[in-house]
Amino acid sequence: MSTISRWRWLIILAAVAALPLVLLASHSWGGYHWARTSNPFTLKLGDNVSSTWDPILATTSSDWSRSTVLNTTIVAGSTNPKNCKAVTGRVEVCNSKYGRNGWLGIAQIWISGSHITKGIVKLNDTYFNSSPYNTTAWRNLVSCQEVGHTFGLDHQDENFNNANLGTCMDYTNNPGTNQHPNAHDFEELQIIYSHLDSTTTVGQTAPGGPGNSQGAGQAPPAMDELDLEGPGQWGRVVRGSRAQGFTVHELDFGGGHKVITFVTWAKGSGDNQ
Ligand SMILES: [Zn+2]
Ligand SMILES: [Zn+2]
Repeated sequence: MSTISRWRWLIILAAVAALPLVLLASHSWGGYHWARTSNPFTLKLGDNVSSTWDPILATTSSDWSRSTVLNTTIVAGSTNPKNCKAVTGRVEVCNSKYGRNGWLGIAQIWISGSHITKGIVKLNDTYFNSSPYNTTAWRNLVSCQEVGHTFGLDHQDENFNNANLGTCMDYTNNPGTNQHPNAHDFEELQIIYSHLDSTTTVGQTAPGGPGNSQGAGQAPPAMDELDLEGPGQWGRVVRGSRAQGFTVHELDFGGGHKVITFVTWAKGSGDNQ
C-alpha cells in the first residue's frame, strides 16, 4: 500500500467514525440551554392561548414531558397574546391573528452567555384559521416544534419535500406523521442537558438576577423594550430563507446577550410565491 492510499484510508476511517457523533450533536442550536442545578427540571409554559389551542398546548406539554431531563407544566399566562411579552424564567405561549406578515409560527429565546433566560412562542391564527393550516396536525406540528426550540433544540431536517422523520422537528408539507417528538429529540435533550450548572435560569423572576449573571453581565434594558414582532427587529438571518420556508435570526446585544428567533413561514406567503 502506498503512503498516499494509506492516508486516504485513514481519512475515510476517521470520517466514518466521526459520523454518528456529528449526527447526534448537530440538532441543538448553539448549545444554548436553561441553566439548572438538577435534572429533571420543570419549565413553565404560560397559557396565553384560546380554547382552540388549549388541547394542542396540552399535547405539546405532555409530548415533551416524556423527556427524562425535563418536564413542562402549563400555568396561567402572564401576557397579552397580541404582544406576547417574554417573562424571565419561563416560556409564554400565545396565539392571535398577527396579520398577513408571512409567518405561521415563531419561537424566540433570550440568551445570556450559553443560557436561555426566557422564551416565547407565537402561533399566527391569520393562517391557522384557514386551509391548509386549520387542522390539528398542522397545529400540533408547529406548536411542538416552536416549544422544542425554547429548550435549545434545532430542526432534524429542513427539507419540506422529503420523507417524514416522524418528529415535529422535521419540516414537511404533510404534517400527518410529524406531530410529536421522536426518540432522537429526546437523545438530543439528554446531550444538551447532560451537565449541571451552579445556578438556574428556570423559574427566575427578577431580570438580571443571579440566574442571569453567569457567563454574562446584566441584560441590556433594550433587550426587553424592543418590539420583536417583525423580521426588521429579529436581526441577521443566520440560516434558511423565506423561500426555503424557514429562517433562524440572531440579534446580538453584545456581552453574550442575544435573542434568537426561529421562524416557520406560511406557504406561498413570502418571496417564494
Ligand atoms: Zn449550563
Ligand atoms: Zn423551527
